[in-house]
Amino acid sequence: MLKHNLGYPRIGIRRELKKASEAYWSNKIDSNSLFEVGEKIREENWKLQEEANLDLIPCNDFSFYDHVLDMSLLLGVIPESYHSIPVIHNNIDLYFSMARGFQRNEWDIKAMEMTKWFNTNYHYIVPEFDKNQKFSIFSNKIFDELEESKKILKSIKKIKPVLIGPVSYLFLGKEKEKSFHKMDLIENIIPIYIKIIKKLKNEGINWIQLDEPILVLDMSEKEKEAFKYAYGEISKFCSDINIMLASYFDGMSENMFLFQDMSIQALHIDLVEDSEQMEKILSFFSRESKMILSLGLIDGRNVWKNNYANSVQKIENAIESIGEDRIMIAPNCSLIHVPIDIEYEHSIHIAIKNRMSFAKQKIYELNDLVEIVKGNKNILFKNSSLLEKSSSIFYDQKIKERMTKITDQDIQRNNHFYIRQKKQKNKFRLPLFPTTTIGSFPQTKEIRSLRNKLRKKELSQESYNEKIKDFIVDVIKKQEKIDLDVLVHGEFERTDMVEYFSDKLKGILSTNNGWVQSYGSRCVKPPVIYGDVGRISDMTVEWICFAQSKTKKLMKGMLTGPVTILQWSFVRNDQPIYHTAYQIAWAIREEVLSLEKSGIQIIQIDEPALREGLPLKKKNWKSYFDWSIKAFRISSSGVKDETQIHTHMCYSEFNDIFEHIADLDADVITMETSRSKMELLKAFSVFSYPNEIGPGVYDIHSPRIPTVEEIFDLIKKASNKLPIKNIWVNPDCGLKTRKWEEVLKSLHNMTKAAKIARKKLVNSS
Ligand code: GLN
Ligand code: ZN
Repeated sequence: MLKHNLGYPRIGIRRELKKASEAYWSNKIDSNSLFEVGEKIREENWKLQEEANLDLIPCNDFSFYDHVLDMSLLLGVIPESYHSIPVIHNNIDLYFSMARGFQRNEWDIKAMEMTKWFNTNYHYIVPEFDKNQKFSIFSNKIFDELEESKKILKSIKKIKPVLIGPVSYLFLGKEKEKSFHKMDLIENIIPIYIKIIKKLKNEGINWIQLDEPILVLDMSEKEKEAFKYAYGEISKFCSDINIMLASYFDGMSENMFLFQDMSIQALHIDLVEDSEQMEKILSFFSRESKMILSLGLIDGRNVWKNNYANSVQKIENAIESIGEDRIMIAPNCSLIHVPIDIEYEHSIHIAIKNRMSFAKQKIYELNDLVEIVKGNKNILFKNSSLLEKSSSIFYDQKIKERMTKITDQDIQRNNHFYIRQKKQKNKFRLPLFPTTTIGSFPQTKEIRSLRNKLRKKELSQESYNEKIKDFIVDVIKKQEKIDLDVLVHGEFERTDMVEYFSDKLKGILSTNNGWVQSYGSRCVKPPVIYGDVGRISDMTVEWICFAQSKTKKLMKGMLTGPVTILQWSFVRNDQPIYHTAYQIAWAIREEVLSLEKSGIQIIQIDEPALREGLPLKKKNWKSYFDWSIKAFRISSSGVKDETQIHTHMCYSEFNDIFEHIADLDADVITMETSRSKMELLKAFSVFSYPNEIGPGVYDIHSPRIPTVEEIFDLIKKASNKLPIKNIWVNPDCGLKTRKWEEVLKSLHNMTKAAKIARKKLVNSS
C-alpha cells in the first residue's frame, strides 16, 4: 500500500513566495533572487515529504503564480498579444504579463481572465484558445524541476510529476471566438502530451499524475468522447510508464464506465467529498480492472485531523475487495487549499489545536494510517480520544436548543412582498430609481495605518474608534453632497467582511499564520469554525447608529450573511453543514433585530458567496439551495414589514439560479451586471424577478469613470425589462478598493443619471 501526495502548498511558511514575487514585480529584486526563493521552497517541500516517508512525491506542483498558467506555458498556449511584446525577453516576464497584464511605455496589454478553480476559493488564469490553436512544448519548467528534484530526493522512483490532464485543461479554457468547440482541440493537444510523457519517461520517471477533475462533473457527450480518445491514445503510446488519473472535489462513479477497456495504471478518487462512490468503484475494480485505486482519505480542503477509524475502515474494505497491492492512500486533493503547519499557531486553545491538522500534519497522517492497518492500535485509540469532544468550548447547550426550535414562521416574513413594499414606500418616500452604494468606501492608507497602530498597541481602542467615527462623519457628508438617497457608514472599521464578524462571534477563531493561496501572490486567512456559533453582543449596532445620528437620510445597516461567512471559513466537520449555517444565521438574525430595535430601517445582508457554494453536480443543487436559502431567511425574516432587507451578490451569471435568488425574498437585491452590459437582464425575459432590484450600473473593478449617458442607457435598458418601481441605481460592488477621486466622480455621474431617468423614463411606465 503506497502513500502519496497530490500537491503541496507553495507559498512558503512565511509567505516567502508572495514577498519575493511582489518584490520582483516592483523591481526590488532580480529574477535570480526570485528563482532562489522558489528553489528553496521546493527543496523544503520535497525534503519534508521524503522525511514523512511518502512513496510518491509530487513534482511540478510548485508554481510562481498558478498551475493552470504553468500548463499554458508548457503547452505553448500564449495569446497573440503577449507574444508580440518586444520588450519581454524571458519566460518569467512573459508568464507574469499573462497573469497580471503588461503596462509600460506605449504598451497596455490586459491580464488574462481569472476565475475560480472548481468550487474552491483558488483562482486560476483561464487559457485562451484560437480556432487553429497550435500546441508545442514551450516552457521547460517541468523538466527543470524534475532535474532539481533528482538532486534533492534520494530515489528517482519516488518522483511523480504532476500535470493537469488534457481534457480538464481544455475544459478550463475558453474559445477566443465562437466558431469552434474547445474539445475539438483534443486531437491537436494529445501528441504534445504524449511527447511530454515520453520525455519524462526518458528522464527515468516511473509515475505521472494527470489531474482530471472534470471526471467529477456532469460531463457532456463531447467531453466524454474527448476523454476516451485522449486516454486511448495515451495508453497506446505511453504504455511503459505508470499513469495515475486524479479525480477530486466530488465523486466520479457516474463516469466510471469511461475506464472500460482503458489501460491506465491508477485512478485516484475523492472519498472525503463523496465516500459513497467507494462501493460502485470497488465493484468495477474487482470486476473489470487491473488498475490501482488511490483512496483520497485525508481532507485537503479543511483543517481537521483525520478520523482514523473512518479511514481505516475504508482501507480495509478496499483491501478486502481488490487486495492490498492495488491500493494507494493519499489526501483527497492537492494540499494547496490548507495552511502549511499548525505548529506555527501559538494562540489557539489547546483543545482545539489538538484536533487540527495543516498540510504538514496531513502528510504524516498517511503514515499513521499505514501503521494502524499493520496493527498498531495505539495510534487509533489516541486519535479517537483526541477527536472526542468533552470541552465546553465546543458546545453551547443554549444554541443547540435554540436550533431545534426554529419554526416555519422564523423563515418567513410576516407578509408578502407586495404588502411590505407598499408599507416601505409609504414610510421611506424615496424617489423612483433610488440611489445607493454597496457598503464600503475607499480603505485608504490612513485607515490601514490606523489599524496597524491599534494592532501594535500604539493607539488605544478609544482613540481608534474616535478616528473611525471621523471617517464616518466625512463619508456621510460626501454622500449627502453627491445626493445619494440611501447612505452607508463606509465599513471603515472592517478589514474584511467575514473576519470582522468571525472575530466577534462565539465558536469561530482566527489563525495567526493560516495563509492559503487565493490567486497569484494573494493569500487569505480563513477563520476556523470550531464549535457552536452564537452572538455574544452587538457587532455593528454602535457604528450604524452613530452614522444614522449624523444624517437625516436613511442609513443602511451592513452585515455579512451566513452562507458567505460559512463559505469563506474552514467549517467544523462533526455535524452537517446546515446545522452550522443555521447557527450563524441565527446570530445574524439577532444582530438584524438589534439594529431594527435601535431604529435602523434598512439592513443589507451580503451574500456574495452564495453562488460559489453551489455543488459541482446538478443533482446536489437542490439540497444546497434548501439549506442556504433557509439560512438566509433565518437571518432576514425576523423584522417588521416596514424594515427593508437588502442583499448583495457580486456576479452576473444568474440565469440558471434566478428562481432560487428570488426565494431569498429580500426586499431589494443589488448585483453585478455592468461588466456584462446588463447581460443579467436577459434572465428577466424568462423569469420575472418579483422584488426590487439594483442591477449594478457601473463596474467598480475598473478605475474608469462611467459617463452620465452610459449609466442612463443602462437604467433605460433595465426599465425596459423591469417594473420601474422596482429598480434601484447603484454601483455593482463595494468601493473599498477604489480611489476617492474616482468614487466621487463616478457616484456623481450616477446620481445625475438617476435624476435624468426620473424625468425621462417615468412617464412611459
Ligand atoms: N458590503 C461589502 C462591500 O461593500 C460587499 C462586498 C462584496 O460584495 N464582496 O465591500
Ligand atoms: Zn460585491
